[in-house]
This record gives sequence, C-alpha cells and structure tokens, in this order.
Amino acid sequence: MIEQPIQQQSVQQSFDFVKSGAIKTRKEPIGERKKRLKLMLQWISKNESKIKAAVYQDFKKPASEVDISEIYPVTSEIKHALESLTSWAKPKKIDAPLSLLGTTSHIQYEPKGACLIIAPWNYPFSLAIGPLVSCLAAGNTAVIKPSEMTPNTSILIEEMISDLFDKEIVSVINGGVEVSQELLALPFDHIFFTGSPQVGKVVMKAAAENLTSVTLELGGKSPVIVDERTDISDAAEKIAWGKYLNNGQTCIAPDYALVHENIKDKFEEKLTTKVKELFSADETKIQDSPDYGRIVNAKHYARLTSLIDEAVSTGAEILFGGDANSDDNFIPPMALTNVSMNSRMMEEEIFGPVLPIISYNNLEEAIGIINSKPKPLALYYFGRSSKNRKKVLKETSSGNVCINDCVIHFGHANLPFGGVNNSGIGKAHGYYGFLAFSNEKGVLKQRIGLTSTKSIYPPYSNFKKLV
Ligand code: NAD
Repeated sequence: MIEQPIQQQSVQQSFDFVKSGAIKTRKEPIGERKKRLKLMLQWISKNESKIKAAVYQDFKKPASEVDISEIYPVTSEIKHALESLTSWAKPKKIDAPLSLLGTTSHIQYEPKGACLIIAPWNYPFSLAIGPLVSCLAAGNTAVIKPSEMTPNTSILIEEMISDLFDKEIVSVINGGVEVSQELLALPFDHIFFTGSPQVGKVVMKAAAENLTSVTLELGGKSPVIVDERTDISDAAEKIAWGKYLNNGQTCIAPDYALVHENIKDKFEEKLTTKVKELFSADETKIQDSPDYGRIVNAKHYARLTSLIDEAVSTGAEILFGGDANSDDNFIPPMALTNVSMNSRMMEEEIFGPVLPIISYNNLEEAIGIINSKPKPLALYYFGRSSKNRKKVLKETSSGNVCINDCVIHFGHANLPFGGVNNSGIGKAHGYYGFLAFSNEKGVLKQRIGLTSTKSIYPPYSNFKKLV
C-alpha cells in the first residue's frame, strides 16, 4: 500500500516555508484558523476508510479501535476547538495590584510562530494530527514529522496535509532519526514532541541551542493500584481493556498492577475471565481475533519477548498468555505473577500486552513502590476508600490520575493531559493545548500624563517605603 511521498522538499525548505507563513498568519482573524480546522474535519470524515486501511497495514489495528483511538480523539478535539476558540483567544482582563492602581492590564494570546510536531508510531494518526489541531487553533504554522515505523499512515498524513494546506501553513517531512535531528537543529518557535523519555532528552538538548520552548509528551511506567475494598470484577474488566488496547502499546496503559494481597487471587481469576470475554475463550484463537492488533515490528517483538523471558528466568509465573508468534509479531494478552522487582520488566516501560501483578500488604508499600520509580504519566486507583484515595493523591506525583477506571481521561477535553518530569513537560488537549502553542503576552496600559509610580523615581530622598 505504501506509495511514493508526495513532496520531496528539504528540511530547510519546509522550515523556511512555515517561518514565512507564520508572519502572515499572525495578522489573520480567528475565522481563518476555524476554516482550517473545518477543512481537517471534512477531510477526516471523507477519508475514514483510508485512515483505517493505513493503520491496519501498519500494525493490523482493528477498524473499531482506529475509530475509538485515532479518529474520534482528533475529531472531538477539532469540534471542541471550534466551539471554544473564540473564548480561548479573547484577551483576558487582569486586575491591577494596589501599587499599580489606575493602570489596566490584559493577557493577549499570540501564536508562537513556526512549530515543529514530532510524532510517535503507537497512535500514528491521532498523535500527529491531534497536536496540529491545537497548533493551528493557536494561529501557528507547522512542520510535522510523523513516525518512520508506521509508513502507511505517515504517507497518508502527507497526502492529507498536501490536500488541505499550502506549504507555508503546514508541511510534512517524512523520515527517521536523521531527518528528525536535522529538524531539531532549526530555530523553530516551539517543539511539540511525543515519544520516549530517552528521545525527549535529545529533543530538549537540541531545543536549548535555540532556546525554543518545548512540550514533551513522554511515557514511563503507569501503575494501577487495586485496593482491598473495590468491585474486583469491574476493576479487572477496565484494566484488561486499558492494558490490551492497541496491544499494550499505549503511553497511558496500566504498566503494572499493585493488588492488595487479600484480593489478589480473586483479581487474577476475574482478569483471566475478562480477557477471555474480550478476545476469545480459547487462548489459541486470539491470533485470529479481529479485535486484537499486533506489535508494531520485529524489533519491538524481540524487545518484549526478551523482557518476558528474563522475567520468567528470574522466577515470574505466567498467569495466562499462550505462545507468541514472531511471523506475525503476535504476542497474546499476558499476565505475570511473582515478578522480581529487579527484573527489566519492572524497570523499563513495558509498552506491550504483558501485565505484571504484584501484591502488596498495605498502601504505604504500594505508594513506596510507585515513588521508587520516576514520576509516571498516569496513575490509576481502584477502590471505595476515600481515605486511601486521598492518601494516594497526596503522596504520589503523576501527570494524570484516573480513579476507578483507566485510560479514559485521555478523552476528557477539559482536563490537561501530560506528564511530569520524566513522563513529560507541559500539557496538551483543548485549552491546555491552545496554551502550549500560545505566548501569553502580559500587557499593561498606563494613562498618559499620570503615574502612580512617581514615588519610585530618583531622587530617592522622596522615596517612601511602599509596604
Ligand atoms: P521514540 O521516542 O522512539 O520516537 C518518537 C519520534 O522521535 C519518532 O518520530 C522518531 O523518528 C523520533 N526519534 C527517534 N529517535 C530520535 C533521536 N535520537 N533523535 C531525534 N528524533 C528521534 O518513541 P516511539 O517508540 O515512537 O513511541 C513510544 C514512546 O512514546 C513510549 O515511551 C510512549 O510512552 C511514548 N508516548 C507518549 C505519549 C504521550 O502522549 N505522552 C503518547 C504516545 C507515546
């Protein structure tokens, strides 16, 4: 299905285009931004089947999953921006402090300018086009660098952008690490990067050379706590969905489960049942399930099987999950128990359909495990105890928290989405995405001929302490 790239402009040419476009778009009325968002919405609704085909070609993602996790997040982001942009972009009046009485002030949201969006492969359409919605809503221009790991979707993104926009507004440059690094060396006005913490550091170092601002949407090990008092069946079903969606290749998938020791057996039994209900009662048939995708490529397949092998060789037991198949990059939904805390499985982001289940005796212990690792992108708590819930919220740090469910917070248009430190810098989605791509310019207006600040001018013999 891969076709030839549409445009072969160089990295430098793309940058020059969007830089000159940014000077023009700065002067436009908000209506022009809305027109661009509407064009994107129309293109997506006309080309849904092409999007589904491209993502399927890349890693057999089921069509309904593409609807839920690639198309819907983008179309809802666009609709939300269309409804709210006028109010987001309106200058916000700010009260004067006592020392500056008589002045008036406001915050004016100006576009940052020419932006670079670097996308990962795991949600290859939504994580390239979603940030573009915020970027264009805020009045910027952009170069997008999709992931080289999902070439069918990347070529389709190139087609979409060339159908819709002049190169001065949005350009797409396809390529791998070298292209990405060439782009990162250029003085963009903002970089929005989604990917791993390791590459996030490369991006931030490169951005420092030009003092370019960054939004880093990264990953890590997102824990789930299943407390003693909870609906075990409900928790198991939600965790099974959030973990095995997209083969576990989701930045906010529950990475590992911390389960109270009094309910561990029951939880394991329910999780096993729920996985059967979701995919197939017969483990050997899951490979044929139309509802279960694949690991993106042989490299990631090998990485995951090596994590599993190492965990098993250090004492882990397989609760469920039959044979993997390298011909098809197929790894079935798996859960492991007795996983050593020193295994790579408990140190690296898993990013695959394997759930280590670790039992804990008291909440302090579970919190201790979470706090011994870098701050996660998401944290999940299942339980009825408001005391325990508050304790977890207070004593841990993570980008987001979702209580009694998982992953769904990604779809909440009014919540900031993103990480903290190792899991990310800055927030995305809705108003927070608009802010990420805007310079909040503080403006103060003094009255001509009047000043309340004369007392701070020399000669200081007249100076009276203000407070
Ligand atoms: P990655 O960091 O390997 O690659 C992301 C992008 O960076 C790709 O476009 C790639 O071409 C480019 N890149 C790779 N190495 C580079 C280098 N050395 N210099 C410059 N550019 C480079 O990530 P990935 O494997 O595509 O995605 C998986 C990671 O992304 C996971 O850690 C996951 O948690 C994270 N992620 C985070 C979010 C979020 O919203 N926070 C969403 C999806 C994925």
